[in-house]
Amino acid sequence: MAEYPFLPAPALFIVLSGPSGAGKSTLMRRFLERNPGVDRCLSVTTRAPRGEERDGVDYHFVSDAEFTRRRENNEFLEWAQVFGRHGYATPRAGVVASLNAGRSVIKDVDVQGGAQIRASFPAAVQVFVVPSSRAEIERRLRTRATDTEAQIARRLAEADAELAQWRAYDHLILSDELEAAALDLDAIVRAERLRISRAGPAPASPSSPSP
Ligand code: ADP
Ligand code: 5GP
Repeated sequence: MAEYPFLPAPALFIVLSGPSGAGKSTLMRRFLERNPGVDRCLSVTTRAPRGEERDGVDYHFVSDAEFTRRRENNEFLEWAQVFGRHGYATPRAGVVASLNAGRSVIKDVDVQGGAQIRASFPAAVQVFVVPSSRAEIERRLRTRATDTEAQIARRLAEADAELAQWRAYDHLILSDELEAAALDLDAIVRAERLRISRAGPAPASPSSPSP
């Protein structure tokens, strides 16, 4: 008996974007715990490690000169100067390697990076992540206790402008309660994997239908 010619959807590039302090990296970590078959793509950044952060685990920490060299060498899928100071970028090679190996890959980027990925990689699953109030973003930035007051004020001012972009994304997750947000992200990824437009190419139609 012939098998039906349905081809599974290829691997997904899942992008979490939203203001700083929204909970993107927390949600991404939770998603990776629940989905060990999905790869994480580490960012390259010129900022210094915070607290317990380690090179190669949280970020690839590089000098300004190294960041510029790699940017000019076209090694980044997207890059942004976040808060006017530090460079952050998604290395193209990491994403391509995962997708070519048939593995989905997840990445958090700021809203500028989200816009670049939308333009250069429209097949990416674009998710906007945000808590339902500004006060909660502020509370999170304070409890994270990694930024000075001036940095928090800057991040909140940027957040107001970034929030205006939410309708440009495919999906919205309100990151108020972590487990509920993680369930929402699982549901989005499951549904995207089932999209017929993502399935492999249809085989040529047979010239005469089988009896
Ligand atoms: P982002 O990656 O968007 O900048 P983080 O994931 O670093 O944000 O989260 C900012 C702070 O908020 C951290 O201290 C984190 O523990 C906390 N946080 C993240 N998600 C939630 C949540 N759903 N509920 C409560 N606190 C959260
Ligand atoms: P943080 O300094 O708090 O780790 O990150 C600051 C902001 O940069 C966050 O909104 C984070 O999501 C974003 N960011 C992290 N990695 C990248 C990246 O590779 N590209 C872009 N455009 N933004 C990133």
